[in-house]
Amino acid sequence: MEFPILDTQVYNHRLVYLDNAATTQKPQQVIDTLCQYYCTLNSNIHRGAHHLAAEATERYEEVRRKVQGFINARSSNEIVFTRGTTESINLVASSFGRRFLHAGDEVIVSGMEHHSDIVPWQLACELAGASLRVIPFSDEGVLDLEAYKALFNEHTRIVACNHVSNTLGTVNPVRELTEIAHSHNVPILIDGAQAVAHMAVDVQQIGCDFYCFSGHKMYAPMGVGVMYGREEILSQLPPYQGGGEMIKDVTFERTTYNELPFRFEAGTPSVGDVLGLGAAIDWMLAQGLDSISVHEDDLLRYATEQLQQVPGIRFFGTAPHKAGVISFLVGHSHPYDVGTLLDKLGIAVRTGHHCTQPIMDRYGIPGTVRASFAAYTTRDDIDALVAALLRIAPMLE
Ligand code: PLP
Repeated sequence: MEFPILDTQVYNHRLVYLDNAATTQKPQQVIDTLCQYYCTLNSNIHRGAHHLAAEATERYEEVRRKVQGFINARSSNEIVFTRGTTESINLVASSFGRRFLHAGDEVIVSGMEHHSDIVPWQLACELAGASLRVIPFSDEGVLDLEAYKALFNEHTRIVACNHVSNTLGTVNPVRELTEIAHSHNVPILIDGAQAVAHMAVDVQQIGCDFYCFSGHKMYAPMGVGVMYGREEILSQLPPYQGGGEMIKDVTFERTTYNELPFRFEAGTPSVGDVLGLGAAIDWMLAQGLDSISVHEDDLLRYATEQLQQVPGIRFFGTAPHKAGVISFLVGHSHPYDVGTLLDKLGIAVRTGHHCTQPIMDRYGIPGTVRASFAAYTTRDDIDALVAALLRIAPMLE
């Protein structure tokens, strides 16, 4: 089995894993890469004179070049390894904030951001005396581009918006959002946490200044992520964390910093996880990014149709351009009750606010039930979800 965990039985039912927006499962080749790393290669990178250190360094830097190709960055200097999207956004908000945010400045975020693309900006704004401006969205979950354009003024310093909403599934027009920001000479950060596993991403085509994502949502291990930053802008930012690896020379009087991208990678990175990310990219490329998108689009259409059979179902996020995420409620039942009953039938979904409380406030609901898809999701999984919802629906009245 390519994904060993999918063989798991839950309460004597086949596991139907529909919580892929939270984290994806790992193919055998990713698991094997981690195992091989710790069995044959483990050592600290960049500074050792010995064979293992040199080999591990080479493999680590090879993954940096692989990520560069995967998102079509101009240079591998633009690829910074982090722990995940959250750390990537904190890095940018903190460094950019220290360099460019001042009292009275404004940061634009969308109303459908994950908390990790809101709170780091709030922290940076608080330090600088700046404030957040929010792009509203329609009932369907589509950003209001006219309102977005109207938010810009001479105080706007940066825009941050997700590529795909983890709650609504909306695929945002990131290229257009970027063009609008750039027409005001304002840089833009795209949170790609929910995009990279589901579609081909080309940062040069989007034109964005920063693009952040997590390995664990794209078949790689937990503990590794990426912050892509355009070299011109990245070279203007101060370091995020201080420590080993990010320096050139240290004296008690003065420290000079290393070049890109090492300036932003203080301390020992999660080398094995980075190699696992490389294996995950190989796995995705072998499937074909376009085939993954086509497959998940088919599942989304199928699931949206089939779920209509469930009495009292209400969908949140019905934008015309969506990725494989379906958020819903059944009648007036609490999402947690639905999730718990589905779990008893072997079906793993997520319930709650999905770290997007402002979206829940926008609709006046406590949370949703969310089913989200991956390359290994099948129509059988959708059928199992629909059958289970039909079975539990009478218990929810
Ligand atoms: N942004 C979006 C859109 C997400 O869906 C998530 C995770 O669910 C994150 C950011 C945070 O990712 P991580 O927890 O991997 O840092």
